[in-house]
Amino acid sequence: MSIYLDHAATTPMIEPAIDAMQRALRKIGNPSSLHTDGRATRKDVEEAREVIAQSLGCQASEVIFTGSGTEANNSAIKGLFWSTPDKNLIVVSAIEHHAVLDPAHWLVEHEGAELIEIPVTDSGVIDCAFLRDLVIRRGGEIALISVMSANNETGVIQPISTVVEIAGSIPVHTDAVQSFMKVPLNFANLGLFAMTISAHKVGGPLGIGALILRKAFEMPALLHGGGQEREIRSGTLNAPSIVAFAAAVSANTYNGEAVEKLREKFESGISTVAPHARVNGQSSKRLPGISNITFPGTQADFLLLLMDGKKVSCSTGAACTAGVHRPSHVLMAMGHDEIGATSSLRFSLGANTTEEDIEYTLSVIPEVIEMAKAANSL
Ligand code: PLP
Repeated sequence: MSIYLDHAATTPMIEPAIDAMQRALRKIGNPSSLHTDGRATRKDVEEAREVIAQSLGCQASEVIFTGSGTEANNSAIKGLFWSTPDKNLIVVSAIEHHAVLDPAHWLVEHEGAELIEIPVTDSGVIDCAFLRDLVIRRGGEIALISVMSANNETGVIQPISTVVEIAGSIPVHTDAVQSFMKVPLNFANLGLFAMTISAHKVGGPLGIGALILRKAFEMPALLHGGGQEREIRSGTLNAPSIVAFAAAVSANTYNGEAVEKLREKFESGISTVAPHARVNGQSSKRLPGISNITFPGTQADFLLLLMDGKKVSCSTGAACTAGVHRPSHVLMAMGHDEIGATSSLRFSLGANTTEEDIEYTLSVIPEVIEMAKAANSL
């Protein structure tokens, strides 16, 4: 038995996606080839593009397939910055994933950009008054604004339509990797310029994502070559993964209400078995499945290993930074000190999480905390 509470890191691939991928793997044909085989693969890819576009309220031509959410974020930040050479200021929230923060910092170091981070409140929501004031004072200098749709560590949902309203004509990108298929998202209605999604967070395969980019918006290419994907992202299209991505989206069985009920059960159980624990961002609107909890007097890395020893998979935060002893920049931005930011675990529930999973996890927590506290006091 093992209990998987790390769905924000990656989700199990769902059966219809596996089936679709297997069928596609058996086919031959580069989607850019003009012969019958190539055209058949192209048809599969274009149908998949349509499915993804419909799920997001955008046009099929606005979907640019990429090799990951990380790539789509990098393309958005660098591409939007380079497409407005007369503007030098990048504005991102302080709680972005590293796949947004790091390209923004890279542009500061290598391209002379200026970067301003939007602070967040203690409950993990961006400070819209700060952004409004910044846009009033320096709007003419801003190349792009990037604010994630929901945070990957706390699940806190961000006010994207307010960001777009404040931005006016400034291009806005949102990293929707965590919120895609979990909460309603409509690219056109939100008035966004760009959005990032990734298949492996929604029951699809690893290594396939998409940049949703407003039609007719010209952006410099990051990958040059065969001119695929509006000449923005060259490279032979990964047809099996694209088809499986769309199959995961079509067959999505995620029931937000059911997942949220389980999360409520978990968090009310935590207040009984670990009364000193605090749920980060609890008072904010959050994605249904994420619960980020600070256990005072413990070290998260140690907690994680102890939970793993009890056969429960969870995380210390973003999977990409797990293993590196760094306090979470998200929790620090929410007002935690270094100690608080290194004593928190993320539990993320998914479509297959059961009441028994939650009950078992709650049953092992008191012993795990006691051991972690004992180790910490040595
Ligand atoms: N953005 C967010 C908010 C994420 O949670 C992740 C993955 O953890 C990414 C981007 C990166 O996506 P990918 O794993 O497809 O590169």
